[in-house]
Amino acid sequence: MTHPTDGSCIFCKIVADQIPCFKLLEDEATIAFMDINPVNPGHALSVAKGHWPTVDVIPPEVLGAVARTAQRVAKAVITELKPNGVNLLQANGEGAGQSVPHLHIHIMPRLPNDGVALNWGYKPGNKDEIEAIYKKLKAAL
Ligand code: 5GP
Ligand code: ZN
Repeated sequence: MTHPTDGSCIFCKIVADQIPCFKLLEDEATIAFMDINPVNPGHALSVAKGHWPTVDVIPPEVLGAVARTAQRVAKAVITELKPNGVNLLQANGEGAGQSVPHLHIHIMPRLPNDGVALNWGYKPGNKDEIEAIYKKLKAAL
């Protein structure tokens, strides 16, 4: 199976074995390895082998494979490390905090008071605004 690659991409270099990593597993479409800057112990990444930057451009079957690999790693993290919880996190674009433009899902173990700021409080929305945006999105699907 051939994958698109980008010679300047750090994850493409890891996929091509040009840069070492702590590889957890690999299949035809995906690879999983430990994050080099772990938020908490056990922080790992499920990564597409091909270079697709974001969720809107990756083929759906590859995205599915990345999710399947993330689930396998998450199961091992949950069983072996017994964290308080696990976030699966996938960022698209700089505004979402994506620093490596090569699609990946973080498997992020959570610990009490770890200070990871992924939480947002409930703030009721405006129904008319929700409906207007809903109509726009629905028409695009
Ligand atoms: P993003 O910010 O794009 O959602 O996540 C990119 C992740 O890749 C970061 O958590 C960062 O620590 C990790 N990362 C960046 N460069 C390397 C590397 O060379 N090796 C490994 N194992 N992880 C990396
Ligand atoms: Zn890449």
